[in-house]
Amino acid sequence: MRFDIITIFPGFFTSIFEYGILSRARTQGLVEIATHDLRGFTQDRHRTVDDRPFGGGEGMVLKAQPIFDAAASLKVAAKTGRDPRRETVILLSAQGRPFTQSLAQELATVERVVLICGRYEGVDERVSQLLCDREVSIGDYVLSGGELGAAVIVDAVVRLLPGALGHPDSARFESFGAHDLSLAEDADASGGPPRTTHGAGGILDYPHYTRPAEFEGVAVPEVLQGGNHDAIRLWRRKMALRKTLENRPDLLAKTELSEQDRRLLREIERDRRREAEDLP
Ligand code: SAM
Repeated sequence: MRFDIITIFPGFFTSIFEYGILSRARTQGLVEIATHDLRGFTQDRHRTVDDRPFGGGEGMVLKAQPIFDAAASLKVAAKTGRDPRRETVILLSAQGRPFTQSLAQELATVERVVLICGRYEGVDERVSQLLCDREVSIGDYVLSGGELGAAVIVDAVVRLLPGALGHPDSARFESFGAHDLSLAEDADASGGPPRTTHGAGGILDYPHYTRPAEFEGVAVPEVLQGGNHDAIRLWRRKMALRKTLENRPDLLAKTELSEQDRRLLREIERDRRREAEDLP
């Protein structure tokens, strides 16, 4: 797969893709990431990429022309007739649809993703209208530019490419993982450690611990120190549900829950009430 990033700050990306999974994926040839300096597509000697907004107001707006010329130099297909499996063009924008794990999964199946980074007050609307397939926001806050958003998208997508992670199943068992409990159970039945214990399906990951068994007076839960994989699996599922309930109840509402999950949630409510009563 390939990413083309159009930006006025190509230097921003110099080292960001040189670590860990991203670096390995590039070395293995799983992904190519190219940055393109928008100023290289301007038509005046000052290399002007922005202009004042029609209608007045503060700030400057990125012009459409250099962005269209950059896209043309990358031989981006016309929006009408673009094959969505081969190519997609995304404008980073606070006004965009939220970037989610399921969009990351969708993008991981596309051959080339073109990311356009805005700056200043934003980008001439005709870029979104005529060139982009979608506007994407990485969260409900306003950043100074689209570069961080582009890096977030590249990172989240590349780790989903087959071969990018050390363990091929890892991505399925993370927060927001695919809802595939049957596969999860199959994987556990292979006799390996209980990786599937939170069952994915759009909820958050369970808490992780490593050595030492006690740190600053806080012990690792006993169940994780025994070898009972069924008990570990159940504990992890319960803790994943609890974390989701406490931090992202909106996800629970959208997740298909089993009878066991509902029982665990009732237990969690009881645990929480008991903990609140025990507080001084
Ligand atoms: N005037 C815009 C607004 O209020 O929505 C904010 C423009 S922002 C200062 C400049 C650029 O940063 C945007 O064009 C966009 O490319 C990028 N940006 C800002 N917030 C973002 C977000 N939450 N997600 C993705 N890109 C963002």
